[in-house]
Amino acid sequence: MIETDILVIGAGLAGLTLARELSTLGNKVLLLEKSKSPGGRLSTRRSDFGGFDHGAQYLTSRTAGFTALLNDLSQNGKLAPWNPDGKDSARPWWVGKPGMSEIGQAMARDLGIQYDTRVTGIVKQGQKFLVHTDYRSEPGPDYLTSRLVAAIPAPQALELLTPLDPAFVRLKKVAMAPCWSAMLAFDTRLAGIPDLIRGQQADVLSLIARNSSKPARTGETFILHAAPQWSREHVEGEHEAVKSAMINAMREQTRLGGSLPDPAHFAVHRWLYALVETPLDQPFLGNPENTLFACGDWCIDGRAEAAHQSGEALARHIMSL
Ligand SMILES: Cc1cc2nc3c(=O)[nH]c(=O)nc-3n(C[C@H](O)[C@H](O)[C@H](O)COP(=O)(O)OP(=O)(O)OC[C@H]3O[C@@H](n4cnc5c(N)ncnc54)[C@H](O)[C@@H]3O)c2cc1C
Repeated sequence: MIETDILVIGAGLAGLTLARELSTLGNKVLLLEKSKSPGGRLSTRRSDFGGFDHGAQYLTSRTAGFTALLNDLSQNGKLAPWNPDGKDSARPWWVGKPGMSEIGQAMARDLGIQYDTRVTGIVKQGQKFLVHTDYRSEPGPDYLTSRLVAAIPAPQALELLTPLDPAFVRLKKVAMAPCWSAMLAFDTRLAGIPDLIRGQQADVLSLIARNSSKPARTGETFILHAAPQWSREHVEGEHEAVKSAMINAMREQTRLGGSLPDPAHFAVHRWLYALVETPLDQPFLGNPENTLFACGDWCIDGRAEAAHQSGEALARHIMSL
């Protein structure tokens, strides 16, 4: 059994922000993360053809706290501006360098994080929480904590926290959409198309982005994101069928048609909880005893900045107790 003051489930942007803030005050904070690395949906898939940012594409900032984080990352060479041909906003767009996953890696430095560790269940033990885990798909150690935070997508938090406290039934209000993401590399440059194309209402693809147009990337690589409605309809689709539909849509939406060459590399990834459709509309959720909490982008909005805001707001609340 491993004991800690504050246990955070999930080392995405919300969990990392929270843990960083709380650690500065000397709290004993431990993060449990089911993946091999930090960052959550700010993610980069490595391949022989370079890295693919198959989750979030770029970051924008409106709040002072997130702007400070972006400035810090930028000064340390972990972040760079992205100005794709086809950029449709006047706001600066920031990307991790050399990949989006660099952001989580930088933020995770000096934090206590157990990777490959999935929380499978939580039970109350007196005033504390006993947390059961799997480590690399085998039964892992138990953790005991006085305060517990689920910094994970709302539907997953609902499953873990509702049996412990009825306050978390409110998570049912939150709606999140899936997203099929495709990663393609080509041997030659695709002439005549911009770096960024947004889909229209009825299109299969909501986004076609030249991944290699971001700073510090090489080759000719693309990311395709299927639209929420299409992703939902094909959420259980076979990989080959999804690939075929997505490349056909790329042919159509780029107007390259039959002149689009066969990709040298083609993989797909399904994000089950990708984008927030209905947020909670409050910065975090907690129980009346202030011992159990949930935070994440879905509290506020479907953007990385919202995850940061949520983690920051919960840290301030816990520090005020
Ligand atoms: C396809 C796609 C495109 C996007 N595009 C953009 C964009 O261009 N700009 C933008 O600002 N935002 C974008 N976003 C949204 C952005 O990625 C999120 O808002 C942000 O990363 C959410 O951070 P989070 O910490 O709330 O959640 P997450 O990043 O989901 O972090 C949750 C973490 O919890 C872990 N976890 C879950 N369950 C368990 C468990 N039981 N035990 C242990 N660990 C667990 C997960 O592995 C994950 O690391 C996009 C997202 C996707 C998927």
